[in-house]
Amino acid sequence: VTAYWCELAWLGGERAERGVSVEVEGERIAAVEPGVASPPAGAERLDGLTLPGLANAHSHAFQRALRGRAQGRGSFWTWRERMYELSERLDPDRLHALGRAVYGEMAMAGITTVGEFHYLHHGPGGTPYDDPNETGRALIRAASEAGIRITLLDACYLRGGFASELEPAQRRFADGDAEAWAERAGALDQGPGHRVGAAIHSVRAVDPGSAAAVAEWAAARSRPLHAHVSEQPSENEECVAAVGRTPTGVLAGAGALGQDFTAVHATHPSPDDIGLLGDSGSSVCLCPTTERDLGDGIGPASALAAAGSPLCLGSDSHAVVDLLEEARALELDERLARLERGVRTPAELLRAATDAGHRALGWPEAGRIEAGALADLVTIGLDGVRTAGADGEEAAAAAVFAASAADVRSVVVGGRPVVRDGRHLSLDVAGELGAAVAGAWA
Ligand SMILES: [Zn+2]
Repeated sequence: VTAYWCELAWLGGERAERGVSVEVEGERIAAVEPGVASPPAGAERLDGLTLPGLANAHSHAFQRALRGRAQGRGSFWTWRERMYELSERLDPDRLHALGRAVYGEMAMAGITTVGEFHYLHHGPGGTPYDDPNETGRALIRAASEAGIRITLLDACYLRGGFASELEPAQRRFADGDAEAWAERAGALDQGPGHRVGAAIHSVRAVDPGSAAAVAEWAAARSRPLHAHVSEQPSENEECVAAVGRTPTGVLAGAGALGQDFTAVHATHPSPDDIGLLGDSGSSVCLCPTTERDLGDGIGPASALAAAGSPLCLGSDSHAVVDLLEEARALELDERLARLERGVRTPAELLRAATDAGHRALGWPEAGRIEAGALADLVTIGLDGVRTAGADGEEAAAAAVFAASAADVRSVVVGGRPVVRDGRHLSLDVAGELGAAVAGAWA
């Protein structure tokens, strides 16, 4: 048994609790007791505000190499060209190096579980590697080396668009048909720190019949299923023109929606789409810093939540890796769009970043500080320039509105310390990021 004593801890309510003792047995929390005035003998002291582990529910690790290189000008579609140019340069070793470095960056930002939406499956021209899952396995290994958990959301990708063949750069993403996708994805095993889910890349890249096959594969195994949905208005227009339904309508028809389904973005859903997502209990993963960067728009988060969809968050293209920034954007972007303050409370924003994200990734036992949950503890310093002066129980609001990834002091994943005093315990993360990004473009 290991014991921690948190100066302040957020246990899910509107306010933080003072003096919280957390006992850990193996990888789980054995007991939680608030109101303990001073650290019990032998307990490790966590000064600041301790949160449950953060879940980054939508990541494409390799896109970290686009940071600063594709943000200045252009449209979503010119950004995508640059992303294809990058993806063509990657092999399993370069992907592993980028993955390990960016997952290290995530660990330092307090992210204890990542959902990697993975579509860069094959070698140049679409030729499979000797192990057809070599790139997926490289990412799973990368997460383990960085000390965080991963749900590999293996994405089916079959065509270039509603009526177009694969472009040369897209051939590496594609398996030919849904059966071949299922055979390959089915060969990926699960382990203590990694789980495997499914993804329909988008209704552009997967026809309705194949989307139904992927949904059936995921349902038969009770695995999470994710899809990019309505990120750009043109996706909706093309979809309606091609098949007479919206992307959400197509996915509903394919049997994809439900409590294990997460719609990524849902920036431009119709009122009917919002009803379909909410009524089915589907989650929605907003990625506000990427949606900003790409000029996608501001998703109707409140309407989606009111309809019944749990909201979670992702850093997607990794323009920045900061779940606290994603969480406050959920609130602040909507204030701009609705000319109204206080749409949701800091506790609701923290739930999106923790509990809801873990559920969407198939880790319902993580994301809360309570007995029985996985022992993931993320401590935000309250003595730094952004957070100094935060008032005790109101510290959760200070964290969500003003703290950044740079304020994360310590991270424990499954009872194991990964970050201490703001330093990753096993990786030189900045050094590895520099080398991996340079290596990707070399
Ligand atoms: Zn994405």
